[in-house]
Amino acid sequence: MKLVSYVADGTERVGVLDATDIVFQIDGDPGGGGLVGVIEHILRHGPDSVRTRPEPAPASALAITAPVPRPARNIFCVGKNYRAHVGELSRSGYGFGPADAEEPPGGPTFFTKPASSVIGPGEPIDDHSGLTSALDYEAELAVIIGPGGRSISTARAWEHVWGYTLINDVTARDIQRDRGQWFLGKSLDTFCPMGPWAVGRDELNLADVTLECWVNGEQRQSAGIKELIFDIPTLIADLSAGVTLRTGDIIATGTPSGVGLGFDPPRFLVPGDLVRVTATGLGVLENRVGRG
Ligand code: MG
Repeated sequence: MKLVSYVADGTERVGVLDATDIVFQIDGDPGGGGLVGVIEHILRHGPDSVRTRPEPAPASALAITAPVPRPARNIFCVGKNYRAHVGELSRSGYGFGPADAEEPPGGPTFFTKPASSVIGPGEPIDDHSGLTSALDYEAELAVIIGPGGRSISTARAWEHVWGYTLINDVTARDIQRDRGQWFLGKSLDTFCPMGPWAVGRDELNLADVTLECWVNGEQRQSAGIKELIFDIPTLIADLSAGVTLRTGDIIATGTPSGVGLGFDPPRFLVPGDLVRVTATGLGVLENRVGRG
């Protein structure tokens, strides 16, 4: 099932997206809380319990928002999870260790972005020109947690995945470098574009999914999800060992090589740039950089 969140007549709605990009509005507000409420409802009563209205609307005519526009808590994120990206970070001189440190970390590197940084498809990314001059993009596959839990084993991790969406883990590299931690440089307002829709786990064969990023029509990133250093079950097991995961939690799984920082000289984003994150079966997440 593909679910899309949008605003119609000033009200937030959730719809089911069909194969021809037609949206059928879900009747009522099952679960009582937007898309996460719908997921909870589906987990409890099954997908057939979701009723849709008969009158369809083309997705292009709707004001699509992030699938989860206001997550209940921070977005969990993973750094250094594609091998070639680990190398470009090390070579960049932006504080990611010695230039020859091509070895991946021994375990997942977690950090978070606040829920307040989330924006939807088509919304502008604020360039925060007074704070950063090293604005960068990171195309990422994000996991949406279904049933929550703690101490989830790798063997049972897939049972806790409801589905997927796309995230652009926008980053101020100079803040990341100068402040000795990742949170601040990745948490500024508008730094978490998300969408355009959420797709259930069973509809996507991750072995076939290619993740890409384009800037102004030029391809910058392309990698298969199968190239993840720490795969999704490993991330869920490691995080949930001490952090209880909840339905609707989002885990951004890391970005491949090809970020602006990885070029020599770096190719950071400037106002007017159009960033397009896309992946097989997950649609197109497009956001333009605005002047803040
Ligand atoms: Mg990232």
